[in-house]
Parts: sequence; structure tokens; C-alpha cells
Amino acid sequence: MRSCPVISRFAPSPSGPLHVGHLLAALQARRLADAHGGRCLLRVEDIDARAQQPAMLELMYEDLAWLGLQFDGEVLVQSRRFAVYGAVLDKLRALGVLYPCFCTRTEIKAQLAEMGRAPHATLGYQYPGTCRHLSAAEAEERMAAGAPHAWRLNMQRVQDIIGCPQWHDLLRGTQRCVPSVFGDVVLARKEFPASYHLCVVVDDAEQGVTHVTRGEDLFDATHIHRAIQGVLGLPVPTYCHHGLLRDNEGKRLAKRDGARSLASLRAAGYTPQMVMESLQVALRNSGIWNI
Ligand code: GLU
Repeated sequence: MRSCPVISRFAPSPSGPLHVGHLLAALQARRLADAHGGRCLLRVEDIDARAQQPAMLELMYEDLAWLGLQFDGEVLVQSRRFAVYGAVLDKLRALGVLYPCFCTRTEIKAQLAEMGRAPHATLGYQYPGTCRHLSAAEAEERMAAGAPHAWRLNMQRVQDIIGCPQWHDLLRGTQRCVPSVFGDVVLARKEFPASYHLCVVVDDAEQGVTHVTRGEDLFDATHIHRAIQGVLGLPVPTYCHHGLLRDNEGKRLAKRDGARSLASLRAAGYTPQMVMESLQVALRNSGIWNI
């Protein structure tokens, strides 16, 4: 553990009611900060329309208050920061690591099927790089004609710039960052001018986050985040990807599993103490209690 003050964060996307998996992440972030006399921040990751439902945000605050989970400082709301993310995209464009991509989702799936490639387990379909080969003149022409496009990170260029940096996971040890295996990810879309990968990196740096705690479903994404930090020269937090909550058959509890939402547990008569105690047991069982 570093000796600088710990700053952790809980960063939910309120696209539905908070469920027990969210709370495990929240409790882990809070606990890590408390154990080291640090601060735990709250960030609302609401860059897409699904996560911009005022009723869900209200419910989230209610749930957190009911549980007695408190956060430090001001809440950062991503949907208010598109100008900040836009400026970072400009910087990345100037560095020559972004290119416009005009492919539709259906086209990408067809291209991948033709190549016999299956989707990646946690990061979904990996773009085969079709538009990376467009000439600058052609790309300009299509954009000038108003063709809808996303902005993708050219991972090969990124790799050339950053070399082979590392990042550290408290549970899995030091990792070598190999971003190119994850394909050229989207950093901005026409309808949503910034993506999760971009915003999370920018905000973790801006908020001075020293420890990123989150579920292991985001472990692979950390390679991408480390790569973006490298290109932008941002500090690299320590990571901790905790195990996910599973049901009795070992199946991951999905957010859509409404039966495990905090609101439904409240309605079923669970007390905040009961919920907190079972989360603490889950954290202990996942081996991260003592770090
Ligand atoms: N917003 C993400 C989620 O709710 C978490 C992102 C992160 O912790 O980096 O799943």
C-alpha cells in the first residue's frame, strides 16, 4: 500500500436500481479508504441515455442513505462534463491516435463473422480495424458529407507511444499492459460524445483517485485504461478487481436480476444491518478484506 493518502471511488451507472453487486463495490471502496484514513468519492457515470433517468438517480441516493453509506466531497456527474471529455479527445486527435470509423454495428458483426472471430468474453466485439486503413482524404470527405461516425483509438499507434507499461492489481499482482489485443476501442460516438473508457480515465485522474476498486468484469478494460493513461501522461492508480457476487448455482448476479435490487430487499423487510453484514461476509469470502 502506498503511503500517500488513499482516494477511492464508487462509480455507479444509474441505469437501473442499485443491486447488491453495486453495493459490494461501494463497500469495498469505502472500506479501503477508511482503513487508510483516506477519502472515498462518489461519481455518477451517466454518459448514456440509459443512465440518465432522474428517478433512478433519486433511488440511488435513497438506497445509499438507507444503508448509511456516505461519500466524501462533491459528487462528480459525468453528463455535465462533455466539454472536458471533448478537449481530451481533441488532444488525442492531435496526437494522431484517433481515427473516425463509419462502420455500423451490423457491418462489424458481419466482418467478424467472415473472419471467424467470436466476441471477447468481457469486452464484446473487437473491431477488425476496417476504417483504420481509410486515407485521411477519404475520411475527411465522408465526415464533410455528414456520414455518422465514431472515434476509435488506434491501439497500434498507442502501443508505439507507450511501449509496454505495467499496472498493479492488489489481488492479482503486477500486470503488463497489452492493449492491442483488445482492438481499436471506441472513445466517442456521434450520439454520445465520450465513452466509458475515456471518461473513467479522465475522471480518475482529475479526482486524484489512487485506488480503483471494481468488479473483476472490468479487469480486461484496465489494459485499455492504462494505455490511455500512458498516452495522456496521467498518473496510474492501483487497482483492485474484486470477485463478483454469484447466486447459489455460481451464476453471476446480473443487474437485470431485479430480485437482488436494494429496493426489493428493502421492500422484503431486510434491514440495512442485514444487508451490510451479508456484504461484509461476501467481501471477506472474496479475500479482499485484509488488503
Ligand atoms: N460505471 C461502472 C458500473 O457501474 C463502473 C465503472 C468503474 O468502476 O470503473 O459498472
